[in-house]
Amino acid sequence: MIQDEIRSITAELPEGVRLVAVSKFHPEEAIMEAYEAGQRVFGESHVQELQRKHDRLPKDIEWHFIGHLQTNKVKYLAPYVSLIHAIDTPRLLAEVSRQGLKYGRRIPCLLQLHVAQEETKFGFSIEEAEKFLHDGEWRQMTGAEIRGIMCMASLTDDEEQIAQEFELARKFFLHARNIYFNSLPSFCECSWGMSDDYPVALRHGTTMIRIGSKIFGHRLP
Ligand SMILES: *Cc1c(COP(=O)(O)O)cnc(C)c1O
Repeated sequence: MIQDEIRSITAELPEGVRLVAVSKFHPEEAIMEAYEAGQRVFGESHVQELQRKHDRLPKDIEWHFIGHLQTNKVKYLAPYVSLIHAIDTPRLLAEVSRQGLKYGRRIPCLLQLHVAQEETKFGFSIEEAEKFLHDGEWRQMTGAEIRGIMCMASLTDDEEQIAQEFELARKFFLHARNIYFNSLPSFCECSWGMSDDYPVALRHGTTMIRIGSKIFGHRLP
């Protein structure tokens, strides 16, 4: 089942789009099943759980942290995390940079944009993200490398609305790439699309889909 899902999702991915298999709340055996099907990129959203899985599972797994990250927990991930998807405050990026420097790394990060209608989601508004990039302090944060934009669409069946939200993020990504990143090749990632909306994301610029329940089934924390 897990292996069939991995194979069928990856078979339909366009060139340049990667699958992040979101394994939060799922046991190590489930991850190993996906691993046996060739999957190497996994997403987790709880620090302790990631810590444990990282310690016990094969070392060629690329671990992405996809959830809201508390500043005081960055230090646990800093030695090994491959990508932090959801930088939602300047303070968090500063801490990632501080920890990155400690370990001699430039830790890859994405800025999380808040484009959904729900109040509760984390992330920079477009205006805040613009101000943050314009202010330029991030350029001194050399232990972190901003590699693109992440977002989550509203929880709705309205595909038109979801498409509009992804387009907002996509436009901001292109703008930021031109204005602030000088078209640097390292600023190249657009992380959007989950189990229920990734077909829409594939039509609207994603380079990384984050899929959990479609692969591993539903599981409560
Ligand atoms: C859980 C989670 C996902 C995966 O969601 P599914 O609907 O299970 O595919 C993707 N992104 C983030 C940030 C998540 O927390």
